[in-house]
Amino acid sequence: MARAMNFNAGPAALPLEALERAQRELVDFAGTGMSIIEHSHRGKAYEGVHNEAISLIKELLSIPDTHQVLLLQGGASQQFAMVPMNLLPQGKSADYIVTGAWGKKAFQEAKTVGTVRALGDAEAKPARVPKQSELSLDGSAAYVHYTSNETIGGNQFHYVPETGKVPLVADMSSDILWKPIDVSKFGLIYAGAQKNIGPSGVTLVIARKDLIESGRTDIPKIFRYSTHAGDNSLYNTPSTFAIYLVRNVLDIVKATGGLAGMEKRNREKAQALYDGIDARPDFYRCPVERDARSTMNVVFNLPTPELEAEFVSAAQKQGMVGLKGHRSVGGIRASIYNAVPIEWVRALVQFMNDFHKGA
Ligand code: PMP
Repeated sequence: MARAMNFNAGPAALPLEALERAQRELVDFAGTGMSIIEHSHRGKAYEGVHNEAISLIKELLSIPDTHQVLLLQGGASQQFAMVPMNLLPQGKSADYIVTGAWGKKAFQEAKTVGTVRALGDAEAKPARVPKQSELSLDGSAAYVHYTSNETIGGNQFHYVPETGKVPLVADMSSDILWKPIDVSKFGLIYAGAQKNIGPSGVTLVIARKDLIESGRTDIPKIFRYSTHAGDNSLYNTPSTFAIYLVRNVLDIVKATGGLAGMEKRNREKAQALYDGIDARPDFYRCPVERDARSTMNVVFNLPTPELEAEFVSAAQKQGMVGLKGHRSVGGIRASIYNAVPIEWVRALVQFMNDFHKGA
């Protein structure tokens, strides 16, 4: 089988070894005579997988004891609601640093729950992220929310906003695990799994225990972080198969140099691709300020939408898929998450050179 060079934004490429392990283990998990999908979420076999996934997350991100890992459902979109439901009490306000489409969605959802304030500019052209000095944050806010990487716009924070005593909440859906981070700086981190963590169907939340405990209780039990924290994310049936695959993916991340190794490879990939764009400024143009360029979602434009469509279909013929930009903005987007090898990026850059010559 020729493996597709998959540049999809999510669900996205996964490490081949993680898939092959699932294939090997699928019908008979660990000699139990049944698949992991068929095991009870309360049984020993699944419990082992569940706890292994959680401990791999803790280990890879060096999560301190002050924080707890939760594996939830409903996607990052559900977190847009759960964050304010839990952390925004009546009479308080929360700050949202909005730098693109996903931050805007998070802000709009929070507005349905309580009082929120938007900072930043979701529509900036070129796309950018505000500097710390541009942020006039409310020192008495319940929390500050930001999107560390805007998957559609291709703009990424390359610093962690300083918020003093106000808890920092980050949507890291499209850049979690791309490099080591200092988790102690965050009140809460959330991420849909379907980019760097595994398949869709499971959402990672890493939250400070005191914030979980002091969360609002006048909301339905299923939406309280404390409910899931109290039951090790086994309050109700979790997405067992997705979590099993997360375990497989993280095991590979650990075996291939952890997050330090990941960062090195990711920087190399992003550099190669942006160099390919910058080498032909008359033809390829990245609509993102240089210091906010994403290491995960590389977006660029060709001179016309017609050429962009041609580019996507010619690339597809060479085995490269998922390069069409998000339907709301068009253009080209190459998502080069953890599981995308440098060879695919080199093939894409070569293709860009050839396409430019032929155009
Ligand atoms: N936030 C970001 C940054 C995203 O990229 C996405 C999905 N692409 C979401 C939130 C929404 O995630 P989900 O589909 O898991 O709800």
